[in-house]
Amino acid sequence: MALLLIVVVGVLVGAVVNRLGTDLPARHPPRRPRCPYCGHPRPWYHWVALPAYIVGRARCPHCSAPISIRYPLTELTLGFLFGYLYLHYGPTPRFGFLTAYTTIFSLVAITDLERRLILNVVILPAMGLAIVGSFFTDHVTWWSALLGGLIGYLFFLVAALAGNLLVGPGALGGGDVKLAGFVGLVVGFPLIIEALVLTILGGGLISLLLLVTRLRSLRDPIPYGPFLIIGGWVTMLWGMEIARWLLYRA
Ligand SMILES: [Zn+2]
Repeated sequence: MALLLIVVVGVLVGAVVNRLGTDLPARHPPRRPRCPYCGHPRPWYHWVALPAYIVGRARCPHCSAPISIRYPLTELTLGFLFGYLYLHYGPTPRFGFLTAYTTIFSLVAITDLERRLILNVVILPAMGLAIVGSFFTDHVTWWSALLGGLIGYLFFLVAALAGNLLVGPGALGGGDVKLAGFVGLVVGFPLIIEALVLTILGGGLISLLLLVTRLRSLRDPIPYGPFLIIGGWVTMLWGMEIARWLLYRA
């Protein structure tokens, strides 16, 4: 019963993340959702898109433009992840902070994938929250969080400066640098090293694939944001297990 409630909360949080993901990059405060095609306000039963998708009526009642698949996808993902985290961590402070970080990651993923933007209004409070979180959860200490944040931030700062010199401006943005700092604050030291390795491996592998298939050229910048999010999230949950597994095999 509690699990069902948590999943529903995850879906509702997903709806809020969708709202913020649309409104924040447009630089206006969150407002009533509207159809992006005809501008009519969405009816209340479309504020959460998942039920409309399930009954197959996910279209604007005025112009019948479909609701973007991003909406139910975000709601479904957060519902699932909230449920998963609850099953594993139960009602603990760690569960609270992990769901908060997961929510932040999903919002950053939306703005970065759709607009190539990582907004200060999202990432700066997120960094503050991660510092607070390090005092309330026992898997990182405050000094390991700060050290991890510093390493993530500096590593991507140097990479961004080098990228600007070698490839030209825009290869790596300031948003990516702050996101790397946030990941470091969340996973702490030494796991930030693992998160960075996963990020670089993931980004490099996909870029190689895109190069080989000629979908991109060598001069196209690699969008590292999504890989930082995936690498950071995976390390946040299974960093210790992955490290242990690697050490025992070596
Ligand atoms: Zn419409």
